[in-house]
This record gives sequence, C-alpha cells and structure tokens, in this order.
Amino acid sequence: MTGEHHVSEEHPRAESIRIREQLTRQVETKVLALAGLIAHGRGEAFDYILGERTTLPAMRAITAASAALLLAEYPVLSVNGNVAALCPRELVELWEATGARLEVNLFHRLPGREEAIERVLKDAGAREVLGVGDAASASIDEVSSDRRRVDPRGILVADAVFVPLEDGDRTEGLVRMGKRVITIDLNPMSRTAQFATITIVDNVVRAMPLLIKEVERLKGSSRNELEALISGFSNREALSEALKLMKERLQSLSEKGVFIQPHG
Ligand code: ATP
Repeated sequence: MTGEHHVSEEHPRAESIRIREQLTRQVETKVLALAGLIAHGRGEAFDYILGERTTLPAMRAITAASAALLLAEYPVLSVNGNVAALCPRELVELWEATGARLEVNLFHRLPGREEAIERVLKDAGAREVLGVGDAASASIDEVSSDRRRVDPRGILVADAVFVPLEDGDRTEGLVRMGKRVITIDLNPMSRTAQFATITIVDNVVRAMPLLIKEVERLKGSSRNELEALISGFSNREALSEALKLMKERLQSLSEKGVFIQPHG
C-alpha cells in the first residue's frame, strides 16, 4: 500500500481505514467512480463476517484460478476502478507472471477515467494497457452498459478473463460467450460469484499476492496437472463452503458474545 495516511497503527481497524483513504484519494484522480466506494462498502461488510482472513476454500479457488490462467491461450486481466485503486502493482505482477494482457473495462466510462486508470497501471510498471478510448472499438452483445465496449485485441478474443469485483450481468455475458471467467468477490451470494467459473471469496487486497505466488509455484506443472486442478474444483462447493464458514463464525461469535475481535 502506498501514500500517506493519518491512522494510528493502534487503531483496531487501521488497515481498513487506510484502504478507505486510498480509495477516497482515487475518486479525486477519477480512477474510482463514487459508486465504487459503495461497492467497496458491500465487500467490507462480508469481509467483517468472514473474519478478514483468507480461508481454505479461497486458497483452493486461488489454486484453480492460477491453473486456469496458466492454461489459457489468451488470458486477459480486466481492470475496473476499484481494482486499479487497490492493487495496481499486483495487477502488473500478475501480467508478468502469466503474460495475460491488461484491459480497462468500466461500467461508467466517464471522460478521463480510462486514461486515469491507464496512468495508474503504467506508473505501476505496465507496458501496454488495452481498452482505453477508441481502442475499445468492439462491442459484445451479451453485455449491456458501457461494459459491452471491449478491445478487439483483448477481452473479445480472450479464452479466460479475470474480472475481480465485477457485476453479475457482465460475468454472465462472458460465460455465455464460452470464456472461462475467474473472479475475486467477497460476497458468495453475488451474481458474479454465482456465474463465474472460479470465484475466490476473499478480499482482493489479500488474494492478489497469493494468486501471484500460486501462479509462480504452478508454472512448471504439466497441462494435465493443471487441467486436473481445474476439474477437481467445484465453484458451487467453494461458495457453499464460504457461506458455511460465515455461518459458523457468526454462530460462534453469537455464542461466545465476543464482538470486538475482528479475527475471532
Ligand atoms: P452482482 O451484480 O454480481 O450481484 P453487485 O451488484 O454487488 O453484484 P457490484 O457492486 O458491481 O456488484 O460489485 C461489487 C462486488 O465486489 C460486490 O459483490 C462486493 O462484495 C465485492 N467487493 C467489493 N470490494 C471488494 C474487495 N475489496 N475484495 C473483494 N470483493 C469486493
């Protein structure tokens, strides 16, 4: 995480407040739309219930996602304002580890936003960013809103698309086009989580470094081994397990009466 902040290290929710400050700053730079702040709040609520940790089912999904990215012929990392604001360096590292191309894809293509996101990615080390301005010249019928506009060198021809913090319509559209869709979403009930091929139920800030590490670890694996990791993964089961963990944690907290420990 970069940038100055004004939160005391002792504050029990220092990290969460630091992230909020980081996001607020990115509203000023146009990287993040106001709606992105609301989306973040929804994610935070689920993270609180999850216990703000990476769970075992999330780790399994990270392994399957790494295998899918390594197996893809033409993987693309779709970047929206929230992800660009939260982990630009990790997106670049994931590009370096997988060779997947980076493409900006936004619900709200407000003037200057795509360029602001491109700048953040380039400052983090990206060499090429697809989907900016006129480059998003193709249109996919399966998706509504500005998100249907894609780069003909990117999402349009991709066989696997990484869409962290996505909305359900687009995820469903991409799956209908026959693409393998990988997402990170703290809400196991969101339509994105349900439609995606592989959903990592975790905070993008925690999951991205783990995903990069896992891709590096699996790099020497054969195609058969990678295929086996994907076929052994069930998104349905992963989501059920995430919900079960949330339920169990709420139950345990309600019985113990401990409400001040985020990591109970
Ligand atoms: P859907 O259309 O898929 O039902 P939605 O309407 O909630 O979901 P958005 O608000 O566009 O979709 O997407 C935000 C999603 O990202 C939410 O499901 C939210 O829980 C999740 N989210 C927000 N911040 C984070 C984060 N830091 N890490 C992981 N997930 C997050």
